[in-house]
Amino acid sequence: MPFTVSVVVQLPAHSALAGPLSYSCEQALAPGSLVRVPLGRRETLGVVWEAPAPPDGAQLKPVTTVLEGIPPLNAVWRQLVGFAAGYYQRALGEVALAALPPQLRELDAAQWHRRLRRKSRETETALQADVPPPAPTAEQAQALARIQSEDGPFLLYGSTGSGKTEVYLRAVQAALAADPQAQALVMVPEINLTPQLEERFVARFAPAFGRQALVSMHSGMTPAQRLASWLAAHTGSARIVLGTRMAVFASMPGLRLIVVDEEHDPSYKQQEGARYSARDLAVYRGRLESRHGGQPCRVLLGSATPSLESWHHSRPAAEGGKYLRLAMPSRVGAGRLPAVRLVDMGQQPRNTQLAPQLLAAIGARIARGEQAMLLLNRRGYAPVLACGSCDWKSLCPHCSAYRVFHKIDRSLRCHHCGYAERVPRACPECGDVDLAPVGRGTERLEEHLAHLFEGMERPGAEGEDRRVRVLRIDADSTRHKGALEEQLAQVHAGAVDVLVGTQMIAKGHDFRRITLVAAVNPDGALFSSDFRAPERLFALLMQAAGRAGRDASQGAASEMWIQTAHPQHALFAALRRHDYPAFADGQLAERMQAGMPPFSFQALVRADARTQQAAQAFLTQAASQVTGLPGADQVLVYPAVPTAVQRVANVERAQMLVESASRGALQQFLAAWQAVLHGTRRDGGIEGVLRWAIDVDPLMV
Ligand code: ADP
Ligand code: ZN
Ligand code: ZN
Repeated sequence: MPFTVSVVVQLPAHSALAGPLSYSCEQALAPGSLVRVPLGRRETLGVVWEAPAPPDGAQLKPVTTVLEGIPPLNAVWRQLVGFAAGYYQRALGEVALAALPPQLRELDAAQWHRRLRRKSRETETALQADVPPPAPTAEQAQALARIQSEDGPFLLYGSTGSGKTEVYLRAVQAALAADPQAQALVMVPEINLTPQLEERFVARFAPAFGRQALVSMHSGMTPAQRLASWLAAHTGSARIVLGTRMAVFASMPGLRLIVVDEEHDPSYKQQEGARYSARDLAVYRGRLESRHGGQPCRVLLGSATPSLESWHHSRPAAEGGKYLRLAMPSRVGAGRLPAVRLVDMGQQPRNTQLAPQLLAAIGARIARGEQAMLLLNRRGYAPVLACGSCDWKSLCPHCSAYRVFHKIDRSLRCHHCGYAERVPRACPECGDVDLAPVGRGTERLEEHLAHLFEGMERPGAEGEDRRVRVLRIDADSTRHKGALEEQLAQVHAGAVDVLVGTQMIAKGHDFRRITLVAAVNPDGALFSSDFRAPERLFALLMQAAGRAGRDASQGAASEMWIQTAHPQHALFAALRRHDYPAFADGQLAERMQAGMPPFSFQALVRADARTQQAAQAFLTQAASQVTGLPGADQVLVYPAVPTAVQRVANVERAQMLVESASRGALQQFLAAWQAVLHGTRRDGGIEGVLRWAIDVDPLMV
């Protein structure tokens, strides 16, 4: 065995081993080669990480199989994975293996060769370009010109309906035309919610490049489909990859453009395992690819309501900005953004669900054959079921949270642990049968609307069923495969008059008939303890407003209604003027004052334990040993506190915030503190600690 190769494998969590393992091999395997190696009693997939070395005399186990027939994973991919592992404080092997399609792990040499020989079954159908692409608007042309002539990264700050997608399409077109090997990666927050985007890309590029030149990458695909997409991207036969956050790790040797649509969306942050931000990694990857490729790999972030981080990064270069801001303020076709109307719920009788003026406005839309969309960020019928005679409420026995009342199947369901039961006939405490729902969710709103509009007729021909149709779209109504597509199709076809839903319907959809959008009860986010709650609310309401009046001919008459007890709030004042910059600058000023991100850098350490006391004791003990660690003098470690929902599925959860004005100091500190946390878990003498994890740049604090 003439060579020693270092191989990155997925080790058990909290393993004492870290970094690559050494194996012997007959061949001088190039870094990035895929191999199968023995690990304990198993055999596992690994990636060769460094250049092979001569044997050093040690007794090494040999590599079992080399997965031949494809090029090795390139240096940029390995650097990206290495950076992500270091930055997000996870094991290299965990990040590397999670970045590969799961099915790769299962294939032995014979299966692998069969898989590579298999030709794609899809026959190449010649597609005709039926609709020629529209000529770009002046704003689009200007943005595109800068994307071609400068290096970026770019922040495309464009109103909803300003034609950002058209800019993405043309930027991809230009990147692919410049070089026959070039590839583009286009990321969206939730690909299942945006089949329209996929359609637009297929319609635009399949005629010239073939349907196989476009592949998707998201968790809704089967393992076989994911492997096929991965291979197509890795070998270069896919020119365009459309994907969710996981696609940021796609192996793409010709990558020249990365688009991150709706870059502010929280779903770009992975919430378990390596908690990476795909948006931030995209920017990092663009830099790496440019440095290695000799040609620029441009990164284009797009949003109507950028994250405050990206907005801050795109301030003028003279003030320290690193991104180029490209503004597209106008809607295509001189369409106007909807007028924002605030309803002061303080002036309404208590417990009013929908103000009369809003109902009248919805009724008028229905009568004209237009659609209305009502947003309520709470699914189920009511968040709590309560007894009228005693104190009983529908608490979850396993969580510090109420179970939600779902009337449709008469169940009480915990949205945290999933525990579900049939609604009891009588109060489990006192036996009274007077159990009443408290508060409202989408099911109840749907029922209420159906009742209110019962007597009304929608326009239609003689003899047609002209009853008003209310449709609810949320995680419950779309549980079955294909249900969301089917429900969206009904909305697009005009078979629905009033659409009720959670934020699921507020994002991205190009609805053409909706002329009124209403946020039924958005106040909760105004006074949240999470400092990012206003930012998320503003983005959600702007997004929601952007669903109205997308057909320019109706833009002038479209409206966004907001029911609030705080009509004077600055957030609504900015929303009324569609003034994201004013809102963002106000928020940034507050954050600067308070030393919060993006003016500081944060990490959370979370601990799960059998008791709250143990979870906090573990964190406190680890925090007591930070003196002298690198970076510690520039880092502030806050006391351990219970998480917002402190008990889930009988596990107690606590967290500790760590903050620094210097990203570098925080990074150094976390890397060193990891060993302390491992040691505390091992030798700390605290019983019942189940797990802990670090979340760098946490989104929810
Ligand atoms: P955004 O992504 O900014 O919300 P879209 O890209 O979806 O906006 O564009 C909104 C609508 O305008 C779409 O129906 C799109 O087809 C249309 N559109 C975009 N650019 C143009 C253009 N240059 N000329 C005509 N229509 C356009
Ligand atoms: Zn009772
Ligand atoms: Zn529960």
